[in-house]
Amino acid sequence: MHTRKRILVTGGAGFLGSHLCERLLAAGHDVLCVDNFFTGSRDNVLHLLDHPHFELLRHDVTFPLYVEVDEIYNLACPASPIHYQFDPVQTTKTSVHGAINMLGLAKRVKARILQASTSEVYGDPEVHPQREDYWGRVNPLGPRACYDEGKRCAETLFFDYHRQHDLRIKVARIFNTYGPRMHPNDGRVVSNFIVHALRNKPIILYGDGQQTRSFCYVDDLVDGLIRLMETPDEVTGPVNLGNPVEFTIRQLAEQVLAQTDSRAQIINEPLPADDPRQRQPDIGLARELLGWEPTVALTEGLEHTIAYFRPLLASAAE
Ligand code: NAD
Ligand code: UDP
Repeated sequence: MHTRKRILVTGGAGFLGSHLCERLLAAGHDVLCVDNFFTGSRDNVLHLLDHPHFELLRHDVTFPLYVEVDEIYNLACPASPIHYQFDPVQTTKTSVHGAINMLGLAKRVKARILQASTSEVYGDPEVHPQREDYWGRVNPLGPRACYDEGKRCAETLFFDYHRQHDLRIKVARIFNTYGPRMHPNDGRVVSNFIVHALRNKPIILYGDGQQTRSFCYVDDLVDGLIRLMETPDEVTGPVNLGNPVEFTIRQLAEQVLAQTDSRAQIINEPLPADDPRQRQPDIGLARELLGWEPTVALTEGLEHTIAYFRPLLASAAE
């Protein structure tokens, strides 16, 4: 029998959050989307505003929130390096105070709570591919630390609330995910490359482009998040969610140029501080616990993403 749940999605007007809200509504739940619109926007959920089971609330998770819900997906936090480094103190506050507030809420209403953690908790890893039992190599003082350490502290809080207050927690470590509704100025590599390629503007490759990432299409990722939330109480994670197929950033640039038929040049700029050299998830645990693995290959995911950006950029240019 289907039971309608009341589900809170923080950061629900962002890239991942908006897809998650859509999927939860389609599954027949009530969705409360909370966002302060720092990197997300109403446009991402405009098509959901008339849905009778959807509610949008402007709220900053660094402040307490009093609502009645059964489940919480905690996604609020800027995810792109240029945005999370814009106001690093606020980034740490969002991760840490945001986690405390959402955990406090979960405790009061006895909700299940899932944290959108990140592969950044592994830092610039010396273990490859990364498994959940690897503790990571993060520079606590560098420009990425506000995000990496904020997310690490949030994980600590989740596990302390679990041990101390018996909270039902789920921690997902998300690896680079891309797809429609990334902001054109988001700054992350997939959207940057597509936007520049479609405008025939130079694609900027940081460093020599030999650093690697593994790119997961948004639909696969959202499926993994929902499966993790639905696991029995004893499953807490952390669980890696990402696509294990690894590419160099140069390969990604060439692939985007080919799929957009672009005349854009590739130019090189210095590698930003603490940019991880390699990243690939070991998803053995997700396969075992969730029966999950990505199904969308990079070429297909890029096709969908390019198809999203093409008309968007054309209308912006008019
Ligand atoms: P995004 O920037 O599009 O979404 C983040 C959302 O959180 C935005 O809508 C933003 O306005 C909102 N937000 C930020 N600070 C807030 C605050 N203080 N209060 C309320 N809302 C706030 O990024 P995304 O890619 O959708 O990422 C969603 C979550 O997943 C983030 O927590 C991110 O760290 C995590 N994650 C994403 C990826 C990825 O590749 N997309 C990888 C690892 C982890
Ligand atoms: N990158 C790049 N050009 C860009 C944006 C990013 O070469 O226009 C590189 C960046 O230095 C990093 C990789 O692409 O090595 C992924 O960057 P992103 O910001 O998407 O995410 P990260 O995994 O570093 O958090």
